[in-house]
Amino acid sequence: TAPVLTIDGPGGAGKGTISRLIAERLGWHLLDSGALYRITALAALRRDLALDDEAALAALAAGLDVSFLPGDSGVRVILDGDEVSGEIRTETVGDAASQVAALPRVREALLQRQRDFRQAPGLVADGRDMGTVVFTEAPLKIFLTASAEERAQRRYRQLREAGLSANLTSLLKEIQARDARDTQRSVAPLKPADDAITLDTTRLTIPEVVDRLIELLAQ
Ligand code: C5P
Repeated sequence: TAPVLTIDGPGGAGKGTISRLIAERLGWHLLDSGALYRITALAALRRDLALDDEAALAALAAGLDVSFLPGDSGVRVILDGDEVSGEIRTETVGDAASQVAALPRVREALLQRQRDFRQAPGLVADGRDMGTVVFTEAPLKIFLTASAEERAQRRYRQLREAGLSANLTSLLKEIQARDARDTQRSVAPLKPADDAITLDTTRLTIPEVVDRLIELLAQ
């Protein structure tokens, strides 16, 4: 079977960008598992399902008509024939995603779909439980962190660069609330796998992190 590099960690640690750059460098496939929870959430919102209706949401997740297509600026996400790449990134969908992600049967329903991404020549798997649940036998597991303050700063700069208004204090609060929800939930809580290497990116640039991970992979 193809090798897997798992990259887990809290929101805003740079997992998405770093996973994409490493997959490009190596010519490997990329699994953005958070996108699957976001797509499930969006499909649920569109169908007006209650976000705690576990049976209905699990059935929805199992039957999702979704595809990931290569695009110029990252992967394009197609749900029921519509492009939803932008819509799944909104705060509303992110919030709903973290609610549906807390339901064990939804996680179970998405498990095989995630494992199917493992194909030659290799897979970079980005998420919260890639090393602890989905790809427990991955040869290299990374837990990427950064201080909450640094993650809030990064988000703040991103929003400002996109011409959007942002408030650093409220961003920090949101990040701390999301961390608490992800680490304290009973199913697949966010934590490093026992055999993961933790990398704190607070004082590292993106190219430095990418180089460091490529180096670890070569060992
Ligand atoms: O990483 P991203 O922000 O896109 O993930 C959206 C939500 O999906 C997260 O807040 C988290 O609760 C959930 N998630 C998860 N397990 C994963 C990836 C994401 O529970 N492997």
